[in-house]
Order: sequence, then C-alpha cells, then structure tokens
Amino acid sequence: MNFLEERIAKDGIVKPGNVLKVDSFLNHQMDISLMDEIGREFHRRFEGSCITKVLTIEASGIAIAYPVAREFGVPMVFAKKSKSINIEGEMYVAEVESFTHKNKNQVIVSKKFLTAEDHVLIIDDFLANGCALQGLISIAESAGATVEGLGIAIEKGFQIGGRVIRNLGYRLESLAIVESMDAQTGTIWFRQQ
Ligand code: 5GP
Repeated sequence: MNFLEERIAKDGIVKPGNVLKVDSFLNHQMDISLMDEIGREFHRRFEGSCITKVLTIEASGIAIAYPVAREFGVPMVFAKKSKSINIEGEMYVAEVESFTHKNKNQVIVSKKFLTAEDHVLIIDDFLANGCALQGLISIAESAGATVEGLGIAIEKGFQIGGRVIRNLGYRLESLAIVESMDAQTGTIWFRQQ
C-alpha cells in the first residue's frame, strides 16, 4: 500500500451509497504533511510534462491542487460554482452534476486565467462518475488549452468515471483506486497498481 492507501485504510469511513468519508485528513480537517506528499507524488508522476497551470474545482479540489501547483511552480486556477445564469462572455462555463449533493451546478473560469497557450494538469480529490473531470476538461478545451493529464487522489474504481476518462484517451493518474468497499464492516479494498 502507498502512503495514501494506508491513510484511507486507517482513517477512511465507508458510508452507505458508495460514499467514502475522508474528512478527518482530506475533506474537512486536513493533514498538511499528507497534502504536501500528494503534491510531491503528482509532481513525480507528471514531471516530464510541460505544465503551465493546475486546474481544479472548488471546494475540496483546492486543497489537493494547491501543493501540486507549488511543486510545479505554476498558478492554480479553480472553477467556481455559480448560480447566476448570465455569465457567458467573460467566462468559460460547464455544467457539473454533483455526486455528493445530487444537484447540477454551472462552474465557471474567467477567460483571463486560461488560454490556448496553457498546458493544464487537472486535479481533484475524488473520481466517481467523472462529471467533475468532464466539466473541467470541457472548460480547458473551450480555452483551447492542452490537457496534459489528470490527477486524482482517490478514484472509486467501481464507478464509471475512470473508464470513461481513460477511454477518451487522457492520461489519468490516481494515487489510490478503491476497488470495492463494504459499508457494514468498513472494509476497503484497493486495486493493485
Ligand atoms: P464525479 O463528478 O466523478 O461523479 O464525482 C467527483 C466529485 O464528487 C468530487 O469532486 C468529490 O468532491 C465528490 N465525491 C464523489 N464521490 C465521493 C466520495 O465517495 N466521498 C467524497 N468525500 N466525495 C466524493
């Protein structure tokens, strides 16, 4: 097991409905040295790529994307969830359905902060059905930017998102892939990588 799998096995809590709670170290209270290690690990995995920007989605993606951007020495941009409808023009817009809240949000990124010259590394905390990542890919593509790859802290391998993104031909690196989990016993099984 790698450092993140070990931490998930120790402190992750399996909830009914295929939800894994990691709010004691990643989603609410944050273990900063773990975040730094995540940043170093994504930097190691994408070192050969020319990254000019790290792109994520608020709120929980920010904590992961921040140390990654620091390792690469580039800005981090996060897509904002927006309720207003009249935002086109200055903004790239995508619609994202939330796995945890089951509602749809428009997410926006200012055109000032993403351009056709950018080579983007997309980062998020979880991958379930892939809606958040597809929204971020669509924003990067609207800008004409190049998606160099996608980095996920925890992929739930029993949901379709990972397969969808890999089948689209993107390089997707997940630090931990949960193969299955049992809400009754709390047991979590990881995919061998
Ligand atoms: P997707 O868009 O891939 O269906 O879901 C990814 C988003 O939903 C992530 O940004 C994450 O915030 C949230 N999410 C999905 N599954 C889980 C989960 O099991 N636990 C937590 N804490 N968040 C999740």
